[in-house]
This record gives sequence, structure tokens and C-alpha cells, in this order.
Amino acid sequence: MTTVIDGNETAERIEAGVSTCATTLREAGVTPGLATVLMSDDGASETYVSMKQQTCEELGIRGYHHEIDPEEPASALFDRIDELNADPSIHGILVQMPVPDHIDKADVLKRIDPMKDVDGFHPENVGRLVAGNARFKPCTPHGVQKLLAAYDVETEGAEAVVVGRSDIVGKPMANLLVQYGEGGNATTTVCHSRTDDLAAHTREADILVAAAGVPEMIDASMVGEGATVIDVGINRVDADTEKGYELVGDVDFESAKQNADIITPVPGGVGPLTIAMLMYNTVKAASLQSGVPVDLP
Ligand code: NDP
Repeated sequence: MTTVIDGNETAERIEAGVSTCATTLREAGVTPGLATVLMSDDGASETYVSMKQQTCEELGIRGYHHEIDPEEPASALFDRIDELNADPSIHGILVQMPVPDHIDKADVLKRIDPMKDVDGFHPENVGRLVAGNARFKPCTPHGVQKLLAAYDVETEGAEAVVVGRSDIVGKPMANLLVQYGEGGNATTTVCHSRTDDLAAHTREADILVAAAGVPEMIDASMVGEGATVIDVGINRVDADTEKGYELVGDVDFESAKQNADIITPVPGGVGPLTIAMLMYNTVKAASLQSGVPVDLP
């Protein structure tokens, strides 16, 4: 029997723990605050930001939302980030990506105070992660690590294969899996679009993390018997639905399930963890900045 991971259940458990941390902080006179900044007319980005704000409200975190006209120059965004960096009621800052083409994403990430960088993408925080001394683990890979722990998937000594090498998922995922300590100590391989014979690598995986952004590219022929398959992909494909599309992962779920022991569905797998871990990082940021200790879940 294949176990299908319930991401909503794990996310709810983590969010309950985060909510308790938020209460501890508020009782000590510190209301954790997360600022989201949207500089885009993209519908999906608007949806992501409003989901983040909604979860803040549910967990007792104060949400602040800022919108900047995408036609404005980069300075409008940088000035706003500077204000948020200086505002003591804001503990976490999230600039929703992508930003308009006339703005260099790397400049945006560098501008955010690393102590408020709850996405974990500032070079200082990336460096700390690689060095094994993470301050804010990037939300999606951290969520994967939490899912693996929740389902008692042993990473130590496991062959882990990550498909994808992006800065937001693939690379930090591999970095987490390879670190010393709990949730790490995996023998980790990173595959990407230039990998020769991808299937030869993925078939060897005890833990296979798919983060390529290619709809249903991983099928049973690429999954070894007994593997744990974590599907990070969220891809819109045309479908005969009300919206005209549906969301599918990078894994062909029905096919891969034939070989996998444990597998995530899409939706309802990794997705819910990403917001939960953003909330986690926000209370962590508030705790670090205020000196009020919290017991993170
Ligand atoms: P990117 O497009 O930034 O990176 C994709 C990576 O996959 C690249 O490293 C690319 O290789 C590699 N790749 C692409 N095609 C292939 C292929 N055929 N074979 C092997 N490797 C391939 O994507 P992201 O990392 O941002 O996102 C990946 C997926 O995860 C997307 O579907 C995205 O929507 C989803 N996502 C989900 C989140 C969640 O909350 N669940 C959060 C973030 C992302 P190369 O570097 O050589 O180009």
C-alpha cells in the first residue's frame, strides 16, 4: 500500500505551533508583523499574497500589505523596502516574485534586512544555509524537510535525488538534505536540464524530490521500488474545467504511485507547507529581533 502524504494535515499542525509562538510573543508585548510587497498585476501573484495575508490573520500575526505600480522605477520598491527595514513593527518582509523586468531581482533580495528576510534568499542567509548555520530556511524546501520528518522518512544515509537547481527550491533543498544533523546526512544528487540520463539517477533515489516545473515528467519508469516521492511542481495545464486549466505536479501521480512507498499529491502535498513555513520564519524573526524566546514547532 502506498502512503499518500497529507500536506494539509502537516501544515495545520505546524501552523498551530506557530500560532502558539505568536501568542507567546504577543503576551510579551511583541506582535509579530509580516509585510508583503506586490509589484505586479499577475493574478497568480495576487492570489499567493492574499493567501499569505489570510494565514497571518488566522495565526495572530499582523499582516501589512503594500502594492507598488509595476510601471514605477526600481527606486519606488527600494524606498519601500528601506522603510520596512527601519520599521520595528515589521519583523518579516516578503517581496512577491517575479518583480518587473526593469528591476534586478538580486538587487531586491540584497536590499532586505537579512534579519527580516523570511524567504531566506538574501546572500547572507544563503551563505548561512550552505555553511550549516541557517537562520531562515527557504520555505518550500524547509516544508519538504518537515513532511519527510512527519512521515518518518529517514534521510540519514539515504540516496536523495533533487530534480531542479533553482535558487528557491532545488539548491536549498539539496543543501538541507546534505547538512549534518536531523533531516540531513543524505547522499544528495542534484539533477537539472543538462543531466545526462535523468532516469538513471532518479531510479536510484530513496528520496526523490521533483522541482523542475515540467508537468508530469516523472513516471513509474523513473521511480525505484519503495521510493519516497516528493512533488514540488505546480503547473497549470489546459483542461476542460470551469477555469480552463488544472494544476498538476512534476510527477505523474498515478504512474509513480505504482513504485513509490510514499508520495505527495498535487495539490495538497508540498503546497500547504510553503505558507506554513513562511509563518514559522516570521515568528522566528520576531523572536530573534525581540529576544523573546519561542518554542518553534
Ligand atoms: P525553475 O524554473 O526556476 O527551475 C526549474 C529547474 O528544473 C531548473 O534547474 C531546470 O534546469 C530544471 N529542469 C527543467 N526541465 C528539466 C528537465 N526536463 N529535466 C531535468 N531538469 C529540468 O523552477 P522553480 O524551482 O521555481 O519551481 C519548480 C516547480 O516547483 C514549478 O512547478 C513551481 O511552480 C513549483 N513551485 C512550487 C512551490 C510550492 O509551494 N509547492 C514553490 C515554488 C515553486 P536548468 O537549471 O538546467 O534550467
